[in-house]
Amino acid sequence: MSKLAVYFGTFIHSRSLTELKVLENAAVGVDKNGIIAFVEEKVDDLKAVLNKHKEFTSAPITRTKRGQFFFPGFIDTHIHASQYPNTGIFGKSTLLDWLNTYTFPTESSFKNLKTARAIYSQVIKRTLSHGTTTATYYATIHVPATNLLSTLCQTIGQRAFIGRVCMDCLGPEYYIDESAESSLAATEETIAHIEKIDPTNELLTPIITPRFAPSCSRPLLHSLAKLSADKNLPIQTHLSENTSELELVASLFPEEESYTHVYHSHKLLTPRTVLAHAIHLSDKEIDLIKQQQSKISHCPNSNTNLTSGFCKVRKLLDKKVDVGLGTDVSGGYSPSILDAVRQALGVSRSVAFLEKSPDHALSVEEGLYLATRGGAKCLGLEDKVGGFEVGKSWDVQLVGLNLVPELDEDGNLEDGGDPAEFAGTPECTVDVFGQTADWADRIAKWVYTGDDRCTRQVWVGGRSVVNKD
Ligand SMILES: [Zn+2]
Repeated sequence: MSKLAVYFGTFIHSRSLTELKVLENAAVGVDKNGIIAFVEEKVDDLKAVLNKHKEFTSAPITRTKRGQFFFPGFIDTHIHASQYPNTGIFGKSTLLDWLNTYTFPTESSFKNLKTARAIYSQVIKRTLSHGTTTATYYATIHVPATNLLSTLCQTIGQRAFIGRVCMDCLGPEYYIDESAESSLAATEETIAHIEKIDPTNELLTPIITPRFAPSCSRPLLHSLAKLSADKNLPIQTHLSENTSELELVASLFPEEESYTHVYHSHKLLTPRTVLAHAIHLSDKEIDLIKQQQSKISHCPNSNTNLTSGFCKVRKLLDKKVDVGLGTDVSGGYSPSILDAVRQALGVSRSVAFLEKSPDHALSVEEGLYLATRGGAKCLGLEDKVGGFEVGKSWDVQLVGLNLVPELDEDGNLEDGGDPAEFAGTPECTVDVFGQTADWADRIAKWVYTGDDRCTRQVWVGGRSVVNKD
């Protein structure tokens, strides 16, 4: 339960894939459950608005200063919470040797709960500080540590999908599920924990997590699909990330037409399935994903660092496949979805060059859509988060750009205004001068030159979870 609150000033959100909408002088009321109760645009008289919504007349008002705006919280559709200590550490490795060299040793250390507590607390706080209000986490194979991640997300206040990693094949001896049965039973234990601490899925949702096809036996894949169907739970896994991985899958599942068909045959392609990477897909595989209404998490930072390849996002969007963004920490070195937007834009330009077609380039507006409403759709949260509409949860970040005043030699503004008003967000790296009055240009500068210092406050479900001011 939070308190009634009113937010007033500039709000920016995606209206569609290609359009960002700026609401100036808008007032938004948020009820005690953290749900948006009213949105009033072009407000001349805030008092009159509050008189109309009487229960809000004495609610505290948070106003944007010059250069600040409310923006929907970011949604990370693919992040390995347990790999956070390894961000930036990948050398020249590619997926399969990276797993053995860096990833499995780190993940295995989560049998120690002190290690798990330190890392999980920090990754939640760090991603929130970057404006990520919803995260879709891979944990590890350990039940106590995975349960701890759920508890910490609830305590610190991040909306999260929590997946205990299932892997009964291919892992090293020191880090592997003993059998398909034990993997399933352990997963059920983590689901039971979440059901106990958050029975209505207010913040937390368990997500069935077969690591990827090569590390799961056929019986395990089957039983996880059944568990998802029985309990109506979402699924996350990896798909078609790396060319050596494709060869491995083809050798392990020779009876299957493609990597995507491995999941389809085991009933793991559902409308609630999020597939990370999905780089090297045939048209037939994309059509199958579309037919099954499964979703794709685009992880450009990771795809570049592990030399995995270029995901053709435009092609997926043209085929009406739902796409969100993932940091894929620690294949990706940054826990920031703003970085994922930037990297998605960069990679799309490389694809445009390689394919000799400028149509592949994504716009800033499209990148920010994927980071908010696109991600929400991937997770079935499109009615709950991603924009400023009545009935949605107040999962929001307050972003501030550093507007630099142009003063005369006496330190005065030309229009006689108060220079102190400009001192809204000096910490932010995005310096904006007078000529950049247009919000579209300011947003582009934020995407390309901003970072977590621009994110000043963050709320999840109406609760203040980050306040840097
Ligand atoms: Zn991953």
